Amino acid sequence: MTGTSRNQDVIEGYERLKISDDDDHEGLILEDLPAGEHNKNYDFCLFGSFLTNRKVNFGALQETLSSIWRPVKGVFMEETSYPNLFIFKFFHELDVKRVLDDGSWTFNQQVLLLKRLDMNEQLKDVHLTNVFMWMQIYDLPIDFNSEFILKSIGNYVGKFIEVDSKNFQGLSKNYLRIKVAIDNRRPLRSHMKINKAGGGDWLWIHFKYERLPSFCFYCGIIGHSKKFCEDLFDNPQAGETRKYDSSLRAPIRK
Ligand SMILES: [Zn+2]
Repeated sequence: MTGTSRNQDVIEGYERLKISDDDDHEGLILEDLPAGEHNKNYDFCLFGSFLTNRKVNFGALQETLSSIWRPVKGVFMEETSYPNLFIFKFFHELDVKRVLDDGSWTFNQQVLLLKRLDMNEQLKDVHLTNVFMWMQIYDLPIDFNSEFILKSIGNYVGKFIEVDSKNFQGLSKNYLRIKVAIDNRRPLRSHMKINKAGGGDWLWIHFKYERLPSFCFYCGIIGHSKKFCEDLFDNPQAGETRKYDSSLRAPIRK
């Protein structure tokens, strides 16, 4: 079959498709997939990756994740051709949501990074950088307890994902909870200064992270310990400086 006849076949099959064989303007524009062309295999899929260059034992990974996730409708796991990039195919949205909600997850003390599969992405370009965690916010004045303010705090610290609806029940709280995505290339934040527009005193609020994976006490980045900190290798005079400690770790909630 020649290229031209193949292209014509394609055009007959797809109503809103543009195609060009011109080398200078080579391309195929799919404006919309015809009805029924949606590939259900990719529903409820997550990409998974690890912050390590070491090869992950896929068999052991499958066994461990199946036993800790225990998805009600099951999960199928596949290695991709890219190092340490996996696809987890679930069969129900509630299983996906629970796995995303209950993280972060670790395997052999390595953080598992997860994100929903994006149909527009090519495997070679998939980079996982977000660690999803529940963050506890301490010392926030009572009248700052609003979804708008919590969202602003979340987006200052990382990327806001959701609030715990229990924040708004009852009258006093030791801390408030929000879910955030933390970029694993940036240091964790342990505190920040906050004020309302229009004046008043600046206040310090503090954070703790639930199920916080191992992180560096020198640079505050998740995924390596101080012993392997490249920053510290570049600044050996910093010696024993410790900018972070385990107080960032929230006590396990049940
Ligand atoms: Zn470090």
